[in-house]
Formats: sequence, structure tokens, C-alpha cells
Amino acid sequence: VSDIKKVTVLGTGVLGSQIAFQTAYSGFDVVAYDIGEDVLEQARGRFAALVDTYRDEVPGAADGKAEEALTRITTTADLAEAAREADLVIEAVPEQPSIKQDVYQRLAAVAPERAVFATNSSTLLPSDLKDFTGRPDRFLALHFANRVWKFNTAEVMGTPDTDPAVVERVLAFAADIGMVPVPVRKEKAGYVLNSLLVPFLNAAAELAAGGYADPHDVDNVWRIATGAPMGPFQIYDIVGLNTPYNILSHGDEKARALAAWMKENYIDKGKLGVAAGEGFYKY
Ligand code: NAD
Repeated sequence: VSDIKKVTVLGTGVLGSQIAFQTAYSGFDVVAYDIGEDVLEQARGRFAALVDTYRDEVPGAADGKAEEALTRITTTADLAEAAREADLVIEAVPEQPSIKQDVYQRLAAVAPERAVFATNSSTLLPSDLKDFTGRPDRFLALHFANRVWKFNTAEVMGTPDTDPAVVERVLAFAADIGMVPVPVRKEKAGYVLNSLLVPFLNAAAELAAGGYADPHDVDNVWRIATGAPMGPFQIYDIVGLNTPYNILSHGDEKARALAAWMKENYIDKGKLGVAAGEGFYKY
């Protein structure tokens, strides 16, 4: 059990709202910060929707526990107030270096000296941000996966400057909020998950785009021959095709050809994945 008690989450979007809710659900007091009252109003809507999701999907959440989590979350658009009592600040603001840098500079000026800062960034390394935190020894990445209550990995990755004791405290905290903590022992773009998943999904797209095998046959081979529950195109549909498309279209020539294939055959036809009712499969 970690000594972290008070948690502040910066950003209440897709991941920030989930991290705040899961932390409150696990018994912690949470302050959720975002840039304005209108956004915080949306955040309260996200929290209310998470109550329903937890009631449906999390064992034991239906007998009042999900509603109770709400009572432990306060929201504010005042950064100093948000950070005042924090032992740990988890940052989940947009994936734009300038926004993150600015947030850390302002946070460093108002947060208690003892507070640990953690970024949930998917594509930036904590080394890219550490100089803006004012506390490189108490700064690291704590990376969640979308739908934290279900896909509950927490990848914990420091920089060469991070105090190993801080890494241990954050690993313990991640376990306290129901995650399976995974130390990533050296900085690696993509952590463990995306280091595996991105090349895997690209290889599947190459097979289908190249006309070697149809998506459902690729998935069949993967499921039957490895025992995996899902094939790569089922995963594409869950992730939604926009994010992989954006990544591919910024890649090399081969990647851009895959992006064009995905756009022409799926995205332009509205086949964006599960959320759209159709992707590589119909839902
Ligand atoms: P999002 O766009 O849904 O949410 C970002 C939130 O940050 C919004 O509520 C926005 O109002 C707020 N914000 C904007 N500027 C801010 C500022 N200056 N200070 C505080 N808040 C500000 O984004 P997201 O998908 O939740 O991603 C957030 C972070 O989590 C990113 O670093 C992303 O890489 C990471 N992440 C996302 C996923 C995912 O599946 N979406 C998974 C793992 C990690």
C-alpha cells in the first residue's frame, strides 16, 4: 500500500475522467482539474456515465459503490486549488508538447514540494517533459489503457533522473487503484503495449492491403493458431480506425500506402469501427 493519499488529475477528457473515477472508486479523494466551467460540466457528465458503465461492467459496483465514488471527486478550474493538497498529480491533458509543457510550468509553481507528477502521455517520453516540472526526481510516466476499469494495465516508466523510490511508490499506488502495475525499466517510446501492438496491427494491414489474405481470415489464423481471443482487425475496430490512420499517415512511404488503403476502403465509407456500427466487421 502506497503512502499516496490525495490525488489530482489534470484534464478530464477520455482518459483523465476514467483515471479520476477509478481512483475515487478505489477510495481516494480526487480533485479533477480542467480549463473551464463548461468543460467541467462535460466532465461531470462523463463521471455520471462512468457510474452506469461501472454498474454494468465492474463486479460489486452496482450496490452503491459506483455512486459513492462520485462523492470523492471534486472539480475545479483553478490549478492552485487543484494542486494544493496533492501527493500525486496525474496529467492527462492533450497530446501536444506545448500544452503539456505549459501545464507543468504552471503546476510546478503551485504544487507542494513533496508532490509527485506523472504523465499519462502515449507518445511523448517523460524525458521530453521533465525539465518543465521543476522536480525531475519526482516525475515519471504512469500510462493507462483506455477503459481503465477493464483493461487495467499501468505502465510505470521513469527517466534516468527519477528517484527509484518514487517509481516504487507509484507502482504501489497503481496497485492500490486496481491496476496491474508494470515497470518499464528504461525509457521506450510506446512502452510495452504499443511497442507490441503497433507493429502487429501494421503487419495485419499489410496482409490485407497487399491482397494476401482477407481481414477475417487474418483474424481466424491468429485466433485459432495462438489461442488469442481477438485478431488484429477486431482490435482495429475496438480502437477505431482514426487513430491508426493518423499514425500511419505520418509514417514512411509504406505506412502512407496502408493509410491510403484504410481511408479508401473503410474510413471514407464511414466504417470506423465498433463505435460507428461497422469497421472491418458489422456490429
Ligand atoms: P482528451 O482530448 O479526451 O482530453 C484532454 C482534456 O484535457 C480535455 O478535457 C481538455 O479540456 C483538457 N485540457 C486542455 N488543455 C488543458 C490544460 N491546459 N490544462 C488542463 N487540461 C487541459 O484526451 P485523452 O484521449 O484523454 O488523452 C489525454 C492524454 O492521455 C494524452 O497524453 C494521451 O496520449 C493519453 N492517453 C490517451 C489514451 C486514449 O485511448 N485516449 C490512452 C492512453 C493514454
